[in-house]
Amino acid sequence: MAEKKSNEISRRNLLKGAVGLGAVAAAAPLALNLAAPSDAYAAQKPLPKKWDEAIDVVVIGSGFAGLAAAAEAAGAGSQVVILEKMPIYGGNSIINGGIYASSDDEYHLRKKLGLGDDSIDRHVKDTIKGGDKYNNPELVKIFVKGATDALNWMIDEGGCQLRQTVTRAGGHSAYRTHNTVQGVGRGYTDPLKKIALSRGAKLRLNTEVTWIWREDTDGPVLGIEIKERGKKKNIQIKKGLVLATGGFSRNIKMRQDFNPSIVPQINCTNHPGATGEVIRFAQAIGADALQMAFIQLYPFAEPETGILDTPAVYPCNGVGYGLVYISKHGKRFVNELERRDVCSYAQINLGERPTYSIFNEEMILKMGGDKKEVEAGIARGRFVRADTLQELGGKLGIDAAQMVKTIAQHDQYLADGKDPDFGKPITKDMISLKKGPFYGIGQWPAVHHTMGGLRIDANARVIDIWGKAIPKLHAAGEVTGGIHGSNRLGSNAIPDCIVFGRIAGTNAAKA
Ligand code: ADP
Repeated sequence: MAEKKSNEISRRNLLKGAVGLGAVAAAAPLALNLAAPSDAYAAQKPLPKKWDEAIDVVVIGSGFAGLAAAAEAAGAGSQVVILEKMPIYGGNSIINGGIYASSDDEYHLRKKLGLGDDSIDRHVKDTIKGGDKYNNPELVKIFVKGATDALNWMIDEGGCQLRQTVTRAGGHSAYRTHNTVQGVGRGYTDPLKKIALSRGAKLRLNTEVTWIWREDTDGPVLGIEIKERGKKKNIQIKKGLVLATGGFSRNIKMRQDFNPSIVPQINCTNHPGATGEVIRFAQAIGADALQMAFIQLYPFAEPETGILDTPAVYPCNGVGYGLVYISKHGKRFVNELERRDVCSYAQINLGERPTYSIFNEEMILKMGGDKKEVEAGIARGRFVRADTLQELGGKLGIDAAQMVKTIAQHDQYLADGKDPDFGKPITKDMISLKKGPFYGIGQWPAVHHTMGGLRIDANARVIDIWGKAIPKLHAAGEVTGGIHGSNRLGSNAIPDCIVFGRIAGTNAAKA
C-alpha cells in the first residue's frame, strides 16, 4: 500500500511538471515528450490544433503482428486502418523464413509422421531455457498456447498452406516447426492480409508515422502524426492504437547504443524499414522498453550479403534430420541442434568465413525442402551439388579429405546414438550422410532480430515507466520486448507476432 502511495506521488510530481507547462497548454496544448532535452524542445511539439482524420483503430505496420491485429479489430466491427511506411506491405514478415513453432496443427502432422512427443508445457520450457530465463513467463505461455489456434485460423480463413512436414529447430526439444509451401513468411502474410481486408481493414502504403500524441502521463494516446505523399497530417485515435512496427536491426546507431558488440560491419537480414523509431516515439510519451541489448544474429544468412532467402532456411530446418555444419577445414564446430546465439558465435570464433551446411537428397523432403527449390538454388549458385562428398568438398573449396573423415565419424555417432564431440542429442529421425547426391550451402551470421522492445502486459497493452498501462496504446510483435529473453528460438517469432497481434487488435477495438 505504502509503495503504491509513493508511486502515486512520483507520478503526480511529474505530472505537475507537465501541468507547469500547462499554463501555456490552456492556449496551445503541448504534447508529452519525456525524451525532450528541454522545455523549449517540447514546445516545438504542440498538440495539433485540429485533426485531419479520426479513425477507430490505427495499426502501425503491416507485418505478421499488424495484419493479425487489424484482422481482429476489424472482425470486432471497428473501422481499422493499417499504416505502412514502405511502398510494399509485409515488412520483415513477408521475407522471413516462414518457420512456425507449434506443438500441433489441424492435420496433427507430428503425430502422423511419428516424430515423437510434444506439449505446450515443453514448448514453454524450451523457450524460457533458450532465452536464459530473461523471458516473461506469462507472455511466453500466452503465445505458446495460442500458436496452434493462430496457425489453424490462417489455414481455415486465410487459405494458408503448410508443407506436410515438421522439423526440429535449434534449441527446441521436439519436432514442432512448420513451414508454408512457399517456404517464406509470405505464406502467412498473404492469408493474414486477406482476412484483414475481407473484414474491412484498409491498408495505406507509403505512410510513415512520425509521432504519437499524448498530453500527459495519465491520459490516453490522442493521435498520431503521419507523413503521406510528402505532407504531414494528424489522425485522431478514437478507440486504440496498435504499434506493430517491428525491430531495429537496420538502425545501426540504435544497435550500437544498446549493444556495441553488434558492430556496423555485420550484415543484416532485415528489410530497410526495420529502424525502430516508433520504439523511441513510444518512450517519449512514457512507455517502458526492456532488454534492448539482446540482439540476435541469424547464423545461416548468405555469407556475402546477409540475405535470408529460402536456401538460408535449410540449415535451420535440416538439423533434426542429420544435416551437419562444416568449417573450411572440413570439421564440425558445434552441436547443430544448439540455439542460434551458440551457432553464430561458434562460427565467429572460428574466424573463417563462411562455414557450410552439408546434407543429402534423402533429407530434402523430410526437412521441409523441395527438390525444385533446390534446383533453383543451384541455378542461382546458392546450393552446390555433387555425387560424392569428396567432390562436394572440392567444389566448395574446403578440405575435402577431412570433411569425408568428419562425416564418416558423424555417421558413426548417429549409429551409436551419441555425439561425444559436441553432445548433440541424436534422434532416430536423423539420416546418415552415406548416400548421395550431396549438397552444400555457405552460411554466415547476420543481424536478424531485436529481442528487446516495448514492455507489454498479457492484454498487449503498452506499460509505462511506472508500471501502468498507457490508455489506448497496444503493441505486438518484434516491437515488444521481454518475450524471448536473451535469445529467441528459431520459429518462435511468427507465433509470438500473430498471437499477440490478435490480442492487441481485439483489445484495441474494445476501448
Ligand atoms: P513484425 O514481424 O513484428 O510484425 P515486421 O517487420 O514484419 O514486424 O513489420 C513491421 C512493419 O512496420 C514494417 O513493414 C515497417 O516498414 C513498418 N513500420 C516501421 N516503422 C514505421 C513507421 N514509423 N510508420 C509506418 N510503418 C512503419
